[in-house]
Amino acid sequence: MAFEEEPQPLKIYFIPYLAAGHMIPLVDIAMLFASHGHHTTIITTPSNAKTLPTTPNHHFRVHTFDFPSQEVGLPDGVENLTGSTDLESSWKIYQASVILRNNIEDFVEQNPPDCIVADFLYPWVEDLANKLHIPWLVFNGFSLFAICAMEALKAHPIVDAHPSGSFVIPNFPHHITINSAPPQFSKEFMDPLLTVALRSHGFIINSFAELDGEEYVNYYHKTIGHKAWHLGPASLTRRTNKEKAERGEKSVVSVHECLSWLNSNPPNSVLYISFGTLCYWSDKQLYEIASAIEASGYGFIWVVPEKKGNEEESEEEQEKWLPKGFEERNREKGIIIRGWAPQVLILDNPAVGAFITHCGWNSTVEAVCAGVSMITWPLHSEQYYNEKLITEVRGIGVEVGVAEWRISAYRENEKLVSKDVIEKAVRRLMDGGDEAERIRQCAQEYGKKARQAIQEGGSSHKNLTTLIEELKQLKASKSLQ
Ligand code: UDP
Repeated sequence: MAFEEEPQPLKIYFIPYLAAGHMIPLVDIAMLFASHGHHTTIITTPSNAKTLPTTPNHHFRVHTFDFPSQEVGLPDGVENLTGSTDLESSWKIYQASVILRNNIEDFVEQNPPDCIVADFLYPWVEDLANKLHIPWLVFNGFSLFAICAMEALKAHPIVDAHPSGSFVIPNFPHHITINSAPPQFSKEFMDPLLTVALRSHGFIINSFAELDGEEYVNYYHKTIGHKAWHLGPASLTRRTNKEKAERGEKSVVSVHECLSWLNSNPPNSVLYISFGTLCYWSDKQLYEIASAIEASGYGFIWVVPEKKGNEEESEEEQEKWLPKGFEERNREKGIIIRGWAPQVLILDNPAVGAFITHCGWNSTVEAVCAGVSMITWPLHSEQYYNEKLITEVRGIGVEVGVAEWRISAYRENEKLVSKDVIEKAVRRLMDGGDEAERIRQCAQEYGKKARQAIQEGGSSHKNLTTLIEELKQLKASKSLQ
């Protein structure tokens, strides 16, 4: 990434939440400001700091505070939700983020910036910014479409859900039926955070305006009355293979070998399967996925949770989640990655023909950037909304057809999704035909639009320039007071 010098640099602090899906994109967005010559500082903890970009840029700094491991009862080094394996440890990470508040506040007050960009899970930043008379922007890693859906439901709670749990989003630009209703506690947790966010200088969105669409940019601006700044796709700030490979944790497989294997496969012949960083699977469900992949006959890269297939796992244990002999039979056909995969590089490879995804927003935008069509299998959080943007609104994917909003990422689904259902969705995209071709073309067009958005004159580039100008004016008017 090229770096500009800026005669009147802004000083901006970024406070990402301690979860890969929140931290990775916000750090990329901070890099974007740094590349325009503004002084950016990421405020985080030591283990998280190790996952940040190593590209030298004197405008990009990191300030760490020790993670309160002992106070919350977590082993040393577990400082991110990616390292948590159950609801209890994820709650401890959240507790730690609450404990860090005082240290962060003291630091920020003693070294005040011109602006703070903070995750919406830190609503207390509002008071801090007000005290310092500086603007504050929020981020949560969601699509604007999902935020709009949540706002619509805040204003008009669901009263007429179908017995299956599906419901129509009220007073919305499109007629959208969501397959499964959010659990009440999830709404109770999210709604107050979204309300605080409405008092900020705006929501930063890791996407580009064309993907959410003008309807939702206008809906958020006019109906909800708040500003959204589409500055992404964040992943496109990583230009070289090295920068892409370094995004997030360290890959557990050789990036070179993984890419060589992909390069040896014909275009659009490989399925990529990953459900993000927060996902528990029962052995039975993994078995169904494995059976579907094998029955489809396509090549695959399948990312499974780290615990699966580690050296201590006996053959007997392995047979519970993999059909007998699966790995030997598929040695040439595919790769199982047990742990962190170099996702952006995999998606970028022309051999990848479709992505079975949980519709986490980062994964979704990364697939869009690569022009890869998606097979959607949402699990929790805002993923059920993203599914509809992908399939019904933008036409760049097909649904597996799941309809069960998990109570937590660490709980298995009550209903098993069978091999046949998964295989059918895979074939819909991978076997070709008019529908698959239309979806693939549409996905590739959005890929082009994504790249245009960040170039000079593109929508995200213009938004970034406008936002920087606004922040400079706010800084200038403050210095006159
Ligand atoms: N990711 C990755 N390798 C993995 C798992 C995840 O690079 O093995 C990255 C992925 O590219 C994305 C982020 O981690 O940038 C996951 O974010 P997402 O919103 O898709 O899902 P979440 O983990 O928050 O549910």
